[in-house]
Amino acid sequence: MKSTVSFLIGCVVGATSILLYLQNTQKLAIAAEHDTSRLPVALSAGAVSPGELRIPVMGVGANELRRDFTQPRGGGRSHGAIDIRAPHGTPVIAALDGTIRKLFTSRDGGITIYQTDPEEEKIYYYAHLDRYARGLREGDKVARGTVIGYVGTSGNAPAGAPHLHFAVMKLPPTKEWWKGDAIDPYPLLTGN
Ligand SMILES: [Zn+2]
Repeated sequence: MKSTVSFLIGCVVGATSILLYLQNTQKLAIAAEHDTSRLPVALSAGAVSPGELRIPVMGVGANELRRDFTQPRGGGRSHGAIDIRAPHGTPVIAALDGTIRKLFTSRDGGITIYQTDPEEEKIYYYAHLDRYARGLREGDKVARGTVIGYVGTSGNAPAGAPHLHFAVMKLPPTKEWWKGDAIDPYPLLTGN
């Protein structure tokens, strides 16, 4: 009898601790989802950004940017972006507050990030990355200046010319991250 009782008590205690454990891990998972403190924010480092967007490569000034939005790129296409040259491994930072919508690897863009603004009006596209910032995940909220990746040559970037290919696209009402009309980022970055 005694052993049956202690067995039953054991069952109850065991089940309770399993439930508590599950509850805690769930809480931890929820906390992790909203915790972006693990991503470093470069608030003061880097050059001044005179435009409405922060120049998304650390330490690059507006005077180093070139207007190459309309440059032809083969197949009748135009560039539709800005290329920001920087040494391999230079931190790439979020140009504005927003959400990491998609982490995607493509043949041409290589390792890429699609970010939206909080209102989801536009997509901000960062391509040819060497790698993502450690711990970066889709759905992460990022602040302007958060380190999200590093400059590289992934995709079709020439091996000897590491750069960030940065594009801004106006999202359609249906909000698909891969659709959208390109806007020249140059005036948004330089104020000119
Ligand atoms: Zn480019």
